[in-house]
Amino acid sequence: MEPIATLAPALAEASRTVGSPQIRNAGTLAGNLGTCSPAGDGLPVLAALDAQVTLLSAGGVRSMPVLDFMVGVKRTAIQPGELIAEIVIPVVRGWQGYAKVGVRNAMVIAVASACLVVDADRRTVALALGSVGPTILRCPDAERWLGEQLDWATMTAPAEVLARFRTLASEASRPITDHRSTADYRRHAVGVLAARLARRATAHPVAGTAV
Ligand SMILES: Cc1cc2nc3c(=O)[nH]c(=O)nc-3n(C[C@H](O)[C@H](O)[C@H](O)COP(=O)(O)OP(=O)(O)OC[C@H]3O[C@@H](n4cnc5c(N)ncnc54)[C@H](O)[C@@H]3O)c2cc1C
Repeated sequence: MEPIATLAPALAEASRTVGSPQIRNAGTLAGNLGTCSPAGDGLPVLAALDAQVTLLSAGGVRSMPVLDFMVGVKRTAIQPGELIAEIVIPVVRGWQGYAKVGVRNAMVIAVASACLVVDADRRTVALALGSVGPTILRCPDAERWLGEQLDWATMTAPAEVLARFRTLASEASRPITDHRSTADYRRHAVGVLAARLARRATAHPVAGTAV
């Protein structure tokens, strides 16, 4: 898993939840992005890290944020003749993690998922949600709230700040009811996931940060 586990730990964490070892060995990140399922496990991580995708065709090369590439349920901005040539993932200093819930613990399509990235240098927080909208959703209100309320010197936040973060994450979701879950459960679950990630983030001081 190295060097991914060190450079983009949330991507490593998400990748470990994909399918079975056979799927993980055969599948690619470009295939995960090309499928563009709202439940694709790599996608909230790419969205939270503000990754860029490079598209190559006989006509030339173009690049765009992954967030713009994912336009809907299994719909991307790719044009006929284009290939995903590269996915550029920024290396961010700070805690990052991925969590998902499904109907069982392995080989499971996410009923709700979330990726949290704390950027200790910019003092910003990014939260991306999966399986709770037509495509991956970022949560500007929740991100702003936690970024402003976090004590960046100690990497701590009071319980009421995390509770509000959970509410804002749930409010950012746009889930549907389908054969896997109800919209209400998804809305609830994604808030729980976001709050859990924030608790994990605030329990881990950033390496190199004075505490
Ligand atoms: C049993 C099973 C379990 C699975 N479990 C999970 C799971 O838990 N989580 C999850 O996220 N996914 C899961 N998947 C879905 C899938 O395997 C993964 O999303 C994987 O990352 C797909 O990668 P691939 O390289 O096999 O893509 P492919 O299946 O080869 O391609 C998928 C799509 O992307 C396009 N594509 C692939 N590469 C490129 C490229 N370079 N440029 C442009 N388009 C491209 C293809 O044309 C196709 O439309 C599962 C699949 C199976 C069969």
